[in-house]
Amino acid sequence: MPEGPETRRMADSISTALIDKKIISFSFFHEQLDPLKALSNISVFNALSKGKAIIIRINGGLSIITHNQLYGKWTFNRPDTQMKTNRQLRIELVTEKKAVRLWSATNIILCKTIDEHLHSYINRIGPDVLDDTTDQSVIRKRLIEKKFRNRILSSTLLDQSFIAGIGNYLRSEILFFSRLNHLKKPSKLDEAQLNNLAKEIKNVSLRAYLQKGKTMDYDSIRKLFGNTDNFKRLRHMVFGRAGQPCFICGDTVIKQFSSSRRVYLCTTCQEFSV
Ligand SMILES: [Zn+2]
Repeated sequence: MPEGPETRRMADSISTALIDKKIISFSFFHEQLDPLKALSNISVFNALSKGKAIIIRINGGLSIITHNQLYGKWTFNRPDTQMKTNRQLRIELVTEKKAVRLWSATNIILCKTIDEHLHSYINRIGPDVLDDTTDQSVIRKRLIEKKFRNRILSSTLLDQSFIAGIGNYLRSEILFFSRLNHLKKPSKLDEAQLNNLAKEIKNVSLRAYLQKGKTMDYDSIRKLFGNTDNFKRLRHMVFGRAGQPCFICGDTVIKQFSSSRRVYLCTTCQEFSV
C-alpha cells in the first residue's frame, strides 16, 4: 500500500498537472461523483494529501477525497496515449498536455470543502507526518499520550490515529534509525530515546518523500564510509533485507511479524531489551 510519502508525491503530480490548467474534458465513473457530471467546467484549485488520502479541491466549494487502499492507482500520461489496462476507470481529468486518471479505487467521496474534516478517514487520523506543523515536539507529545505510551511501538507506528502516513516500510526504517526494537513502549524510553524517536519519525518519512521512497541517510553514509557509491541503488537499511548483513555492524538482518505485518531489524543495532 502506498504510504504517506508516496501519497504526497501523487498529490504533487496531480497539482503540477491540473492546478491553473484548463481542463478540456472530464469523466467520472463512481456514484459518489455523479453530481459532477452536471458541471459545465471543472477547475482544480488544490491537491494535497492527508495520511494516505488525497484531497482534490475544485470549483463550487467541493472536494473529492480518495483513499487508494491496496488497489487504487493514479496515472499521468499524454492525452493521446492509449491505455492498456483491465482496471476500472474512476476519474479522468484531461488538459492539453496531461490526462490524469484514477483507476480501481472504491473509497471515493465528494463533499463540501468545509466538511473535509468529517470524512470517515480524515476525522480519525492523527497529524500528517509530512505536514510542516508536525515537528519533533508534536510527535514527542503524542508518543507519551495516555493512548500510546504503554503500547508497543510496532503497533503505534502503524496506527494512523497516532501520526498519519506511516506504513510498513517506514516502521522498520524508523525503528532502525532510532536504534529501538519494535517491542519497546514509549513509557520505557528515557528522554534521549524519546526525543530521538520523535526526530527519526519525522526525518525518515521526510527523506522517503524527498528521495522517492528511499530511506537511506546519505549524509551519515558519507561520514561513515567516505562516499555513497555503494549505497546509491539501495532503498532501505533493513526493510526487505532479511538474511543480509547490517550496513552498520555486519550482523544479519532478521524478519519477524508484529501486528500481523513483517518487520525487519538488526538485533545488534536495535537494543533488544524490552
Ligand atoms: Zn546492525
